[in-house]
Amino acid sequence: MDIHGENEFKIKSYSNAAYTLDKLTEPLSDMSPSQLYAIRGIGEAIGKKIQEIIETKHLALLDEYIQKTPPGILEMLKIKGLGPKKIVTIWKELEIESIGELLYACEENRLVKYKGFGEKTQKNIQEALHFYLQHQGNYLYEEVENLATTLQNNLAIEFPNQQHIISGAFKRQMEWLGFLDIVTTLSETHLTAWLAAKNFTFEKKAGYISCKGEDNFELRWYLTTIENFFWTDFTLSCSPAFLDTWQALENFKMEAYQTEQSIFDQVGISYIPAPQRELATIIEKAKGKNLPKTIQPSDIKGIIHAHSTWSDGIHTLEQMAIAAKEKGYEYLIISDHSKSAFYANGLQADRIIEQHKEIDVLNKKLAPFVIFKSIESDILNDGSLDYPDEILANFDIVIASVHSNLKMTEEKAMMRLLNAVNNPYTSILGHPTGRLLLSRKGYPVNHEVLIEACAENNVAIELNAHPRRLDMDWRYIQAAVENDVLISINPDAHAIEGFDDCKYGVFVAQKAGLSAANNLSSFSLAEMLEFIEYQQAKRPQ
Ligand SMILES: [Zn+2]
Ligand SMILES: [Zn+2]
Repeated sequence: MDIHGENEFKIKSYSNAAYTLDKLTEPLSDMSPSQLYAIRGIGEAIGKKIQEIIETKHLALLDEYIQKTPPGILEMLKIKGLGPKKIVTIWKELEIESIGELLYACEENRLVKYKGFGEKTQKNIQEALHFYLQHQGNYLYEEVENLATTLQNNLAIEFPNQQHIISGAFKRQMEWLGFLDIVTTLSETHLTAWLAAKNFTFEKKAGYISCKGEDNFELRWYLTTIENFFWTDFTLSCSPAFLDTWQALENFKMEAYQTEQSIFDQVGISYIPAPQRELATIIEKAKGKNLPKTIQPSDIKGIIHAHSTWSDGIHTLEQMAIAAKEKGYEYLIISDHSKSAFYANGLQADRIIEQHKEIDVLNKKLAPFVIFKSIESDILNDGSLDYPDEILANFDIVIASVHSNLKMTEEKAMMRLLNAVNNPYTSILGHPTGRLLLSRKGYPVNHEVLIEACAENNVAIELNAHPRRLDMDWRYIQAAVENDVLISINPDAHAIEGFDDCKYGVFVAQKAGLSAANNLSSFSLAEMLEFIEYQQAKRPQ
């Protein structure tokens, strides 16, 4: 509507309604029309549109807008930093209708001549376009997880006498992937008949059958005999460097393996789980001895980093605490946003006092479960935290995170991060690069220097477990552990359901071989109390 120059107020009301719907937890289809119209920000006009979608799965008005917008223009809406106003200029004035054309125009320095496009903006758009093109057609692990498990189950039910396994990037628990690799002993005739019956389109490629369903997501089927089944799965479920080193091992000789384990037995190497088959150096570590046990989802003992309705969360503090207790966690470290995060209803000093009163009452009610007083403090432009020391002193734990002015040089980013880590009130550094997988690269960070500073100041580094963040990157976990820096797998939950995201953090941490002992959220309540005491001893007395 913005692109087509519709009435501003009309646009605002749709935008407000979308925001409201996003936060709603009960299904709209269960509501009567009057209940629907009574929701603040919905009303009758938009309520009727919602009913239309529920009944017909379509919205005629939206279809109309889509009809009169070129597909390339719609695609531009997915690019970070390209708002409707800029897109209108690109479309109507530059007469550009596709991403490729736009990238070319940036390279030719053509955007700068237009209102609202400086040299810096042009450069940012160019970078965003590159990023988008590189990641197109990729999906977060979490987005394909359901499909993968359903597929595995269906195959087992429909073809119980054959072997099938979801291999490749999924088995390696990569943070994102472009397709699913499936190894199966099904014959080509059986497989293609099955795919055709399910309305998949497929074509033969070198080594596999590529197939796509309605959602355009690609499945790659590797057909193999039972003799080659485990080896095929193995080759797909390790990195190229790992495989090269493996095949150069002294005792290695390809044979008909009976199990996955027998591939390891042949060369005298202890079992290496697929997620850890990354760096070839791990092969040496597993020679003749077992690898240390990696962290499991059940090792998470408490929820660190969660938001409630005190800032931008969906559930109340009490709801969050009760749910955490019921799920078997020993504590909840509630860390709503700090005052500069005005867009997220960050806490002013007086509201901190109020929240702490509520925590005291709940702690009496829910004992032995404990809610710890925390804050996710913005790291300001100069690297200072968002409150004076006398207020920070009221928190058990301070998580420091960058949320504003994310576009910065490495020098600037490191100045802000190091100042925050050096602050004696900081206990955990939140999502250290600010990246959003497949959509935002994050600011540049020198991990080596950052890890050193965290070691010096006894600051834990968060592994934000939200499937779109998974930040810090698992590739730096080993370096942190070697420097005695604790990792903290935190869900950054904005609702009760968010607690379950811990699992995704654990999955990538397994890739780095992280053990539960090196993860802060695996601390028992007693250990957490000790950690807090230790952290408080850092503060000026
Ligand atoms: Zn945050
Ligand atoms: Zn947060």
